[in-house]
Amino acid sequence: MKCDRCDKPILPGQEERVPVFSGSGAGGTVVLHRGGCQVSRAHPVSYPPGR
Ligand SMILES: [Zn+2]
Repeated sequence: MKCDRCDKPILPGQEERVPVFSGSGAGGTVVLHRGGCQVSRAHPVSYPPGR
């Protein structure tokens, strides 16, 4: 399993599945690091706390 954002491997239990919706209406699910990607700082992620 790899993160769809930073393209790094995700350890079991550290994944977070996020539903995505494309413009054509076809949805999908991406797998991201839970709480944000901390593996690479190339793409800093800022999740609003408490959401
Ligand atoms: Zn990631």
